Amino acid sequence: MSHGITDTQRVLTLADLEQGDLSFAQTSLAVLGHPIAHSLSPQMHNGALAALAKEAPQLADWRYYAIDVPPADLPRALRLLRKRGFLGLNLTIPHKVLALAHVAEIDPAARVIGAVNTLRRLGGANDDQPAHAGGDQCDSLGDGWQGFNTDGYGLAAAVRETLGLDLSGQPVILLGAGGAARGAAVECLAQGCPSLWIANRTAANLETLLSELAPLADKSRRGEKNRLHGFSPARVPDDLPAHALVINATSAGLRESDPMPIDLPALPRPAGVYDMIYNPPETPLLHRARKLGLPRANGLSMLVHQGAKALEIWSGIAASRIAPLMQKSLTP
Ligand code: NAP
Repeated sequence: MSHGITDTQRVLTLADLEQGDLSFAQTSLAVLGHPIAHSLSPQMHNGALAALAKEAPQLADWRYYAIDVPPADLPRALRLLRKRGFLGLNLTIPHKVLALAHVAEIDPAARVIGAVNTLRRLGGANDDQPAHAGGDQCDSLGDGWQGFNTDGYGLAAAVRETLGLDLSGQPVILLGAGGAARGAAVECLAQGCPSLWIANRTAANLETLLSELAPLADKSRRGEKNRLHGFSPARVPDDLPAHALVINATSAGLRESDPMPIDLPALPRPAGVYDMIYNPPETPLLHRARKLGLPRANGLSMLVHQGAKALEIWSGIAASRIAPLMQKSLTP
């Protein structure tokens, strides 16, 4: 019976990894989530790696896997994957916040967001020693992975590419107060957006996010005052800015039965609408934006750019070179 390298199209479990009879590529990467079978990340990363390997042969034996990890198993998975020599991991629902407590070092930007979506192994291959104290840039918590968050970078690059808008010069109306909205809000404020209006269904979650963002909002590069605001999507305020970028960071739109996250025609005419959801490709919000003749884009470009940045962190190859290859690998 042959014991070749494990097929990257197969969704793995922790039991598969623990049995130890699977062989992995010399340099292995993976996305951990629960559920994970729907993830486009293996296709996107393996497609880009195959294309890059034509000019960078050292990447020829890099492979990216999908591993189903329930939340309670995350600490065990991180220990096991480190032991098995995995170089890098992406984290998706429900691990992005949970992982903070289990990584050795956290990039400062990810610490502000309070979530990580990319991990890089510290130390050498199969090194199971306790991690060293934090480096110059990072806070240390003690274990073997360094955490980053590439979602904000991915959003900024996607909005620039698809809508021609720059977060640094753009009033933003952000829908949602969960993990994705938190990353988006930090990116908007860090890039110096002149005003940020956040709407969320549950008032308590909105208030928590606003109070956490307040110190960052005060650090305006251009000295704008009161640039952070919150409102209920059920009561659209009169003084929303015109020509804002509307970003949907809620999960409303994933299912056909979902309500609209906001009544788009009730807003002053926006400069564009970006929906982080990419499946379905046209959510009811994007459908409404099309009917109103507004520039619009779905979240596929964000998926590509956050993935390209993660691969840059692991490989040192520029994200700008990787992104078109990832995009191509997702195009039928
Ligand atoms: P999350 O932490 O669970 O937050 C969900 C958010 O959606 C909360 O603000 C929640 O409001 C709101 N919400 C849920 N159902 C709603 C409904 N029926 N009506 C109105 N609001 C509703 O999830 P997340 O990690 O932030 O992800 C949010 C979305 O972004 C998901 O669709 C995810 O796939 C997408 N995303 C895409 C990318 C990409 O690369 N394109 C990256 C990250 C995330 P309450 O506070 O009221 O519950």
